[in-house]
Amino acid sequence: MSASSISLPEFRNEPLTDFSVPAHRSAIEAALAKVHSEFGREYDLLIGGERVKTTEKLRSLNPSRPSEIVGIHQKATPELAARAIESAYTYFAEWSTTSASDRIRKLLAAAHLLREHKFEFDAWLVYEAGKTWPEADADTAEAIDFCEYYAREMLRLAGPQPVVQLPGEKDEMRYLPLGVGVIIPPWNFPLAILAGMTVAALVTGNTAVIKPSSETPTVAAKFAELLLEAGFPDRSFSFLPGSGSAIGDLLVQHPKTRFIAFTGSRDVGLRINELAAKPQAGQRWIKRVIAEMGGKDAIIVDADADLEKAANDVVASAFGYQGQKCSACSRAIVDEHVYDEFLAKVKKKTEALTVGPADDPGSYMGPVISEGARRTILQYIEAGSKEGKPVAGGGAVSGDGYFIKPTVIADVPSSARIFREEIFGPVLAVTKAKDFESALNLANDSEYGLTGAIFSNTPEHIRQARERFFVGNLYVNRKCTGAMVGVHPFGGFNMSGTDSKAGGPDYLLLFLQAKSIAERVA
Ligand code: NAP
Repeated sequence: MSASSISLPEFRNEPLTDFSVPAHRSAIEAALAKVHSEFGREYDLLIGGERVKTTEKLRSLNPSRPSEIVGIHQKATPELAARAIESAYTYFAEWSTTSASDRIRKLLAAAHLLREHKFEFDAWLVYEAGKTWPEADADTAEAIDFCEYYAREMLRLAGPQPVVQLPGEKDEMRYLPLGVGVIIPPWNFPLAILAGMTVAALVTGNTAVIKPSSETPTVAAKFAELLLEAGFPDRSFSFLPGSGSAIGDLLVQHPKTRFIAFTGSRDVGLRINELAAKPQAGQRWIKRVIAEMGGKDAIIVDADADLEKAANDVVASAFGYQGQKCSACSRAIVDEHVYDEFLAKVKKKTEALTVGPADDPGSYMGPVISEGARRTILQYIEAGSKEGKPVAGGGAVSGDGYFIKPTVIADVPSSARIFREEIFGPVLAVTKAKDFESALNLANDSEYGLTGAIFSNTPEHIRQARERFFVGNLYVNRKCTGAMVGVHPFGGFNMSGTDSKAGGPDYLLLFLQAKSIAERVA
């Protein structure tokens, strides 16, 4: 059956769950109880259809209560990683020739299953990633969106593409898959980003080796099981948890790896890019690297901004999911005429935020992901408190979990580390600018260029920001987090990555190569 025989309604974003509705509340409570009862289960590696156990194990913890083990996973060795690549390489010959319609149908089945098990996935995200209910639900909704959106995109890209016809020739261009893709997601969107990169690879006809983050392998294992249930052949992908530092280089450098889809930190992304660029013995292609990396995202608050709205959205962008989004606002750059008033509002709103276990619906913020992350963030807070003036938060919250108070540090100079380095935690630096022009220069004074926002009522300043605020995702008079698939294709400039716009019309092309065919007919 050809792809043209599939007809799909227009793409629509999956609605977010309103947890004030009693039925939704009971549904997530039931899912949390069910998922909790599965804590401590052991999951296998999946390599080319084989379930594999290793002697060394990886344990993922509940960051709200680290004594709880969410899942026990195998730890792939370099030998197993090589086996996964070889197996994906062998099966590519078959998978790449399956019809696009077949792959699209499987992807739609995956979207359907995700929807059916939405609350369970939410619950795994609450427990393993420390996401509050709404944050977890947004992660699951985004995963559904990626499946639905890329299914439609594949429909558009399957078959011959329009080209000019030369008289006397039949001219054609079609897209082919690349080969074996290594998929390396981060822990902060352990479902959406993992799912997005994986299904983009599979629906375009590539085979994949998925190396999940060591912090969130259970969410990944659940998604791998769902892919099998949706009908993706067990040889079309491998599920390969293991330490990035132990198996990452091998996966990237293997001569049969054709591309790497990575989302994570700047340093790991740069390493992957460097290693992938060096051809290995027997390698027959230039590897493609799709890398989405960190951010140091700024919100500019102009002199005539609606300060109430700006303060609300800065606080939401800075502290939603504990500041652990690549799009999180970590710098507020504020015109000096409204600086004091804005800061007072931000302080008050920040101090009103509740911090506690992610499964408790009373918590606005849950824990940060790990003890290591908590330590690093606290070091930044300590150093930042000397670089600027602490006005809210400023330390850990007592309790077992990895909790940190939402922290605001004012009067931060642009030379400060907390102005320049990605902290990836609930820390907001506030900096004074003498006017809009200097605010824009400060915002652009970063090696990153992922998201940014401006609050202003001056059309000329908004126009200037549209032209000169150098970020992949710019928002005007709204928060800088919460990109929606299809609506806000997502990815950044500079050290934020290769600007591969996830959830946009260019994305699947990164997983394809075009072949042009001309046949003389007269
Ligand atoms: P990370 O430390 O760079 O890890 C990302 C992934 O890379 C993990 O699966 C990790 O595995 C793996 N890895 C580690 N070392 C490796 C190596 N030498 N070779 C290959 N893979 C390796 O990042 P993270 O802490 O998970 O995520 C947070 C970062 O992601 C932040 O910088 C954030 O801004 C960025 N991010 C960017 C976007 C975007 O769209 N631009 C979206 C989300 C997050 P292990 O877990 O086993 O170490």
